[in-house]
Amino acid sequence: MPNKSSNKPSYRGLGFRVCAKCGKSKDDGVTLLQCSACGVDFYCGGECQRADWPSHKDKCRINRQARERLAASPERTQEVEALRRWTRVHRPTLFYLSLQELGVLQDPSVADRTLFMVKVRSRPQETNERRRFEITEASPFPIDEVGEAAPQIRQAIETVRAAHRQPNYGTYMLFVLPDDVLCPPNLIPLDFEMGGVLPMHHTPKDMIDIVNQGRLL
Ligand SMILES: [Zn+2]
Ligand SMILES: [Zn+2]
Repeated sequence: MPNKSSNKPSYRGLGFRVCAKCGKSKDDGVTLLQCSACGVDFYCGGECQRADWPSHKDKCRINRQARERLAASPERTQEVEALRRWTRVHRPTLFYLSLQELGVLQDPSVADRTLFMVKVRSRPQETNERRRFEITEASPFPIDEVGEAAPQIRQAIETVRAAHRQPNYGTYMLFVLPDDVLCPPNLIPLDFEMGGVLPMHHTPKDMIDIVNQGRLL
């Protein structure tokens, strides 16, 4: 498994977030909260948020308007659909890649605390939908460090597990994260047989190349 500390995703500054007022981060022992109105800036607490409001006010409104406009645009809908199709077509490769990288077959408890994060970059000009996105990073990531989405992810895992008929199956989450902050991530539950064996022996790099070249396993 790769060293987690060297694989911090930078999505929305995840892991690199700082208070918009005082600049403190998680490493300074503060818990950062998102501006609930615009969801763009973060604060270490109510004091900093209030102090920053006079300068944040206008930016906050512009952030909200941009978000609403883009969320409703046809381009946005197309992007979301394209990511869904891309994820579906590459799902087997992403499954084997994550199975190997997470090590859940050797230790099923990994699935309780770790998801597999695949960061992708959009290729809007690409006409081949298998190549519509490019993997820029793929690594195990602690669920606790996902931030505000963590409870939702845990709930989704529980729901899928509760539906399992066979007791020897486990579930972990694949988190496909686009570089465009307005395109929501895809969260896909993947089932594995506890104590099973890896079905193939491509290296992780080979599997990423296969996806990025638009090939299938
Ligand atoms: Zn602060
Ligand atoms: Zn705001």
